[in-house]
Amino acid sequence: MSEVTCARCGERREGLGAAPLPGALGASILANTCATCWEAWRLEQVKVINHYSLRPHLKEDREKLYEITRDALHLPAG
Ligand SMILES: [Zn+2]
Repeated sequence: MSEVTCARCGERREGLGAAPLPGALGASILANTCATCWEAWRLEQVKVINHYSLRPHLKEDREKLYEITRDALHLPAG
């Protein structure tokens, strides 16, 4: 498995190996997020979904969640 320089923790660590989400966001996570931080965010995300009462099957809520994900993982814009 290849290593990435993680945008969240700043360490060079093992990456995910495959994009965890479809599209540009998934590709960005694959390139910029280590497996450890992704796992931490996956757990945190559950709280975020509950906190904002997000319904990820709805496009609008999914986009909100993706925006929060970008922020949480310190992903580069775009
Ligand atoms: Zn990390």
